[in-house]
This record gives sequence, structure tokens and C-alpha cells, in this order.
Amino acid sequence: MAYIVNSDKAEEFIDHSEIEDTLAYAKAHEHDRTLIEQIIDKAALCKGLNHREAAVLLLCKEPDLVERIFALAREIKQRFYGNRIVMFAPLYLSNYCVNGCTYCPYHAKNKTIARKKLSQEEIAKEVIALQDMGHKRLALEAGEHPKHAPIDYILDSIKTIYSIKHKNGAIRRVNVNIAATTVENYRKLKDAGIGTYILFQETYDKENYERLHPTGPKSDYAYHTEAMDRAMEAGIDDVGIGVLFGLNTYKYDFIALLMHAEHLEARFGVGPHTISMPRICPADDINTNDFPNAISDEIFKRIIAVTRIAVPYTGIIISTRESEKSRKEVLEIGVSQISGGSKTSVGGYAEPTTESESSAQFDISDQRTLDEIVSWLLDLGHVPSFCTACYRMGRTGDRFMSLIKSGQIANCCAPNSLITLKEYLMDYASEETRQKAINMIEQEVEKIPNEKIKTIAKRNLQEIAQGKRDFRF
Ligand code: SF4
Ligand code: SF4
Repeated sequence: MAYIVNSDKAEEFIDHSEIEDTLAYAKAHEHDRTLIEQIIDKAALCKGLNHREAAVLLLCKEPDLVERIFALAREIKQRFYGNRIVMFAPLYLSNYCVNGCTYCPYHAKNKTIARKKLSQEEIAKEVIALQDMGHKRLALEAGEHPKHAPIDYILDSIKTIYSIKHKNGAIRRVNVNIAATTVENYRKLKDAGIGTYILFQETYDKENYERLHPTGPKSDYAYHTEAMDRAMEAGIDDVGIGVLFGLNTYKYDFIALLMHAEHLEARFGVGPHTISMPRICPADDINTNDFPNAISDEIFKRIIAVTRIAVPYTGIIISTRESEKSRKEVLEIGVSQISGGSKTSVGGYAEPTTESESSAQFDISDQRTLDEIVSWLLDLGHVPSFCTACYRMGRTGDRFMSLIKSGQIANCCAPNSLITLKEYLMDYASEETRQKAINMIEQEVEKIPNEKIKTIAKRNLQEIAQGKRDFRF
């Protein structure tokens, strides 16, 4: 196979030899100060890096240059995303699954986990519980099952979620993480008004992929790897990619992840909207000792820093799999979205389950409530944002990318983060968090560079205090 970036065939745009050659190239240059410095200088222009250049930075063994890589990641994070962190929560609809993924407790052969599928009434209860926490943005999760979770069930669930308006609450953006499917089904998802379509590759290494996915439709490597192409053909222009670090060697999957991003850009003119960074972690029936490729915190940080500078326009997401300590560190160097107050069991928001009844997909390391996380982010100097504006203003795909590339997005994100934080503090925050948020908003609103936007934002903030909701730039 040859490497063809804009091919429609998985084995050509994720060409194994290109990854191997890239690895060898990066290894050969791990002490090449001249080359590494050239790449860092190029990255400082904020136009991104290709997978070869990024691989060299990932493997760099010069301590002072590694420091420069981290410093640049911090700078780019600040420049494009400021101190805002967008909040979301996962919502698990069903954990019936026909696949045999060896690292996931939902795999079809696991007989110890409680299986559950939510009815539309139960989904409504979950959504009310999520709205009562203050969430506005969800990621829908469901196992693959033709009988228990067909596309019509997913579409009905999306409709239910958008229809619930409880007190001042509303879910304004539903991102969807369901199994690879057909162009026709992606069209239906698009018509249902989804935000981002998210699908993790798990690992890009075909041989390893096939070993980890021995049974079920997901075992088809090409069908899974080409899913984002079908989603984009169907008109979904915000897609979220990711790998589960620890399944395979991180170097291989990091390079392939960037090749996937380059492929989408080359073929459709728009790269991924987000990259998720999960790592393998313990769960029912899953022992992390079985995964010798599991990565350390140090490597995790390096991956995030190099991703931040290689694709400055792509949001980076981490979940509550990560501990408080790990989250704190990676927020500084590139992460722009985190989940908070998450339950990874089916129905876990309305009715928290005991461990023995648990239907959870993975163990949560960060168990804090959303309010505690918001409060913690404020203490660290971040602005928790519940913004969903772009998708609702039609700023998706290349429209979104051109705004972010020109830097204009900053005029939207900053006021939107303050407006949505104000809504949160008025409707959901504890007294302590409320006070911190008020102080943060007062300081941050003065930093909005555009005077006209600043004036409107101040007016909106006052109107929110008087009971109005849902302003956006
Ligand atoms: Fe099913 Fe997804 Fe878990 Fe695989 S990772 S077993 S497809 S829920
Ligand atoms: Fe995200 Fe757009 Fe809101 Fe900025 S304005 S936080 S890019 S939705």
C-alpha cells in the first residue's frame, strides 16, 4: 500500500509504512537540536505541524527543548482558547453491545455487568437531572446493538433531549458517540440536529485493532476507520476523533491520529473539530495490567502538548477518567473541554447505582460534583464555560475553522463563556461558587478587546441577573 492522504481507503490514508517510516525518522532525530528548533519555530507561527514534524517533537530527548515545547503549548492554548474551559457531560443511553472489544466492560460476553437501556421517560429524567446540575452540552453514548439501540432509538432520544425545558434549563448541544454507521444514518443524525459526531478509533494499528476487536461489526477495521468520511459525506461537518491510549504503542497511535486529521482536511477541507484523549483505565472485567502499553502521566502530558501545537484549531477533550491532579496539569497545556459531575452508568444521573448494580463503562477518577469542579476551575484562574453558541449560530465545519484560524473566534468565546457562566451562577451554583464566579466575570469582562462587544456583553450580563437567558455571540 502507498500513502495517499486524500484516499477514501483506510489503509492508504493510515498507511502502516508511512507510520513506521515516521517513527524511524523521529527516532533518528531525537537529539537533532537544529531540526527540533526549526520545528518549534514553525509551530510558533500557529499554523500547525504535519505528522512527521509532530513525531519529532513527541520523541525529542533534549530537556531544554522539551521545556520549550511545553511553553509553546501553553502559549498557543492561551492565544486560541484563553483561560476558558468548556464543560460537558456524557449521557449513557444503553449498554447492550454486540461487539467484543476486549478493553470495554460492555463487550457482548461480559455476563457480570448489569445491562440497561433507557426508555424515553427515563431519558427525560436523566436530562432533568443534568439540567439541574447546570449542564447545557451532552455527549450521547450507546453500545452497538441492532435491537436495543437502532438508529431510530437514537434519533428519538435526541428529540427527547432537545424537547426538555426544565426551569431555566435546556440542553443546547447534543454530541453523539455511537458506532460507525452508514451515510444514510449519518444523514439522519445530521437532520436531528446533532453537534459533533464522535467516534474513537481506539487504535489505528490494523493488526492490533483486529486482535482487540475479535467479534462484532466493529471488527471491520476499514469500515470503522472510514466512518468519519461517511459522516462528512452525509454533511456532518463537525467530527471528533480520538484513540484510547494504552491499547497500542502511543507513538504509533499519535502519528496515525494526526494522519487522520490531515486526511479529513485534505479530502473535505476541514479537519476534526475535536480530539479526545482517553487513556485505558480500570473497569468491571477489565484489568489494566493486561495492557502493557498504558501510558504514564509524563507521556500523557507530552502527547497533549504536542497535539496542541500540531493542530492549534482543534479542541482537545479529556474526561473524568483523569484524576484531579492530571486534569490540572493538562488544562494548562492544551485541553479545552472537560466533563464534570459525570456518571458513566446507564441512568446514573437520576438514580445513582450501587457498585453491584453498576452498569458503568469505566471507573471515574474525578468524582467531584459539577459545582465542585466549577469552583476548582475558578480557583485555578480558568473560566468554566457552558457555551454552545457556534453550533446554534451555524458556525460549523469550515465556517468555524475560518473564524478560529483568523483569531476572530476570541470575540465570541470570551463573552459567551461569561454569559453562560453567569447563567450557571444564577441558576445552579452554590453560594461559594457563585461569589467566585461573580468576581471572575467582573475581571474578565473588562478584558474583552472589542469595545462594542464588551458593551453588549455587559448589558447581557445585567439582563441575565434580571431573569433573561440564552444570549449569545
Ligand atoms: Fe461496545 Fe463500544 Fe464497548 Fe466496544 S467500546 S464493547 S463497541 S460499547
Ligand atoms: Fe465553542 Fe464557539 Fe462557544 Fe467558542 S463561541 S466556546 S468555539 S461554541
